[in-house]
Amino acid sequence: MTHTSIILASGNAHKHKEFEHFFATLDGLTTNRITLLSPRDFPDVASTLDEIEENGATYEENALIKARAWANATGLPAIADDSGIEVEALDWAPGIRSARATDGSDADRVCWMLNRMQGKKNLHERRACFVACIVIAFPGKISHGGRDFFSTEGRCWGILALEPRGTNGFGYDPIFVPDGYDRTFAEFDGAEKSNVSHRAIAMKGMAQMMSVVLEYASVRETSHGRIRY
Ligand code: IMP
Repeated sequence: MTHTSIILASGNAHKHKEFEHFFATLDGLTTNRITLLSPRDFPDVASTLDEIEENGATYEENALIKARAWANATGLPAIADDSGIEVEALDWAPGIRSARATDGSDADRVCWMLNRMQGKKNLHERRACFVACIVIAFPGKISHGGRDFFSTEGRCWGILALEPRGTNGFGYDPIFVPDGYDRTFAEFDGAEKSNVSHRAIAMKGMAQMMSVVLEYASVRETSHGRIRY
């Protein structure tokens, strides 16, 4: 059995839970065991990479900046995601700027969003979409077309609630009601959100990329003795 370690280049505990949930499902489908490491497992690397500037023009570019930096620094396949919320009435802003839409806390950004949506009370004026791009980068080129990364994107459509509801999750969760539900993401429990979120949809695409990761790990294992990922 190949033991494969992957670093998830994110300090966000909520994202970790969503990824862990995904890997738990995947573990059941493969004979391989995957260990998901976090920046906390590499405090020295984390302190040098803390300030990586995410100055890409797209979600994919930003995720790739993080994933490549972590793959090169640790020698492990690295996963990073970049995500955001896009609101039709705001010309699809704030998008890749979602985490920095305004200074302050998540609650401040929720307030900022509700202020910008004042006067737009009809549901059809409040269409929004969460987007997540997940990248897996390798510490060097792999045999698949000389690439060193794969990426996948997921979108989750819904509407912005008129006021915040719920206490779970993070970011804009208290004001996002996914299509087909009448609760905000902050009223979902973690496992439930892990099944329908933009990250969950992107992860379904990632399941295919995992076969490449496992193949990569087993090639390393046979050519270098028991190297553990
Ligand atoms: P990043 O992907 O960590 O750079 O941050 C993206 C930002 O988008 C977060 O800080 C949140 O404001 C928002 N965001 C992304 N995904 C979610 C989610 O699942 N729930 C709520 N907000 C999210």
